[in-house]
Amino acid sequence: MIFDIEHIHEEGLDFDILEPKECFNVDSPDCALTDDVKVQGKLERSGQEILCKGSLETGLSVTCTRCLNDFSFVVKSQLKVHFIPRVEDNKPAHEIELTELDVEQEYYEEVQIDLSSPVRDLILLSLPQVILCRQDCAGLCPECGTNLNENKCDCKNEGSYDPRLAVLQQLKDKLK
Ligand SMILES: [Zn+2]
Ligand SMILES: [Zn+2]
Repeated sequence: MIFDIEHIHEEGLDFDILEPKECFNVDSPDCALTDDVKVQGKLERSGQEILCKGSLETGLSVTCTRCLNDFSFVVKSQLKVHFIPRVEDNKPAHEIELTELDVEQEYYEEVQIDLSSPVRDLILLSLPQVILCRQDCAGLCPECGTNLNENKCDCKNEGSYDPRLAVLQQLKDKLK
């Protein structure tokens, strides 16, 4: 996903890439890319600054936070990255006012820009903090571990595990 700056002319450069999933190194047991990453959009150049606007589409296999089942998650995001050249003293040549907070800013070296790391960031950021296989996922029974979406169990505390109650239960068991 590397572009030569000199190929980006005044009228902009349209691109449409299908990047193999292996390139992104998103491959952990609870979050792995299952599809290649489709990115399309346009690069626009103004002086030494490059603005990339586009969209991204791919698929992940993720683990539900509640029931620990793996399920597929479709990623569809808007990509907006502002590339500015890295200069000697590590500060932009002039201050750039970021009026849109959803624009990611990246530095580039030499004469090329690389979309891989902003794309990877965007994929990972598209996941919510709590990943649920479905909105009403019942989760696992804290006592016996049964997946309550699939089966019922005979344990009393349904879904909400309260450690204080567990202590009481232990006392009761001892008194039996
Ligand atoms: Zn679940
Ligand atoms: Zn149970």
